[in-house]
Amino acid sequence: MTDTAPIISYARSAFLSLTALFIFTLTNYQIDSPSVIYSRPEVALLSNEVTQGDMGVIELKGAANGKTPEGEIFGTKLRFFTAAGSYIALTAAGMEETSGTHMMTIHGIEEHALYYPVKVAAKEFDSTILNVKRRMAFPGKKERARIKRENELVASAIEDRLKKIGKAPAWDGPFIMPVTDKITDTFGSWRVMNKKKEYRHNGLDIRAKNGARVVAANSGEVVLTGDFYLTGKTVIVDHGMGVFTTYAHLSRISADIGEKVERGQLVGRAGATGRATGPHLHWGARLEYNFINPESIVTESEAFFKHISDKR
Ligand SMILES: [Zn+2]
Repeated sequence: MTDTAPIISYARSAFLSLTALFIFTLTNYQIDSPSVIYSRPEVALLSNEVTQGDMGVIELKGAANGKTPEGEIFGTKLRFFTAAGSYIALTAAGMEETSGTHMMTIHGIEEHALYYPVKVAAKEFDSTILNVKRRMAFPGKKERARIKRENELVASAIEDRLKKIGKAPAWDGPFIMPVTDKITDTFGSWRVMNKKKEYRHNGLDIRAKNGARVVAANSGEVVLTGDFYLTGKTVIVDHGMGVFTTYAHLSRISADIGEKVERGQLVGRAGATGRATGPHLHWGARLEYNFINPESIVTESEAFFKHISDKR
């Protein structure tokens, strides 16, 4: 054990000399050529932190080398686009993401990767009790096979769209609520169905009378419509940059696959098709394959457009 001491003391003196050399070099640079001093690009979330289940907007400033950066956080790739002189990317913390500090990696600015901390705020999710028809709560073998097929259909529609993803979003204004009424169940709520089945709610329920107008939350393209076992008559819209919205339990579908829709355009009428306790709109949102809180795409996009109009 004793013969490790000289190694430690040698390492310590080598470290101190290197530190002195580094400070000396840095000081010299500052005196002689301030322009070569490295300034780390600034990367920040518009809202400082991202809440569990919510979308967040990341802004990267001072990286004007003309090459679009790449990045990653929460195991998902960041897709940067340009707006008001900055690189912007959308991110989302899953409803089950651990709260606290996570690391975001950015490539393509420096030769090596850059790391930035991103804070995830914990959220207290609601609890809901509901009762539906037995066959809906506990589907049989045939129904389970149908649900699986329909989930695969949705996933493959998203996959196809992500392959053709463009360099800019399809929208140039904030997202709006597809129905303006009371929220009857929140995103991520813990649900107990028919006293036995437990799961998390992956969208937002908004009160809507049968036949009420349901509009596109933003501009985009209809990528899937259908009458599915769980979500009933459904419309899915791709808004670009990996953002998708879903309108479920409709009594009528008013848009076609491949149709370009504008924000506020009618996509269907509210109803109670599929697994629903009564007429309402189940509004879903995704960033790529991950479900996110639809309310957050409204608030975050509002904050984003306010931010870029302030900069102009
Ligand atoms: Zn719902």
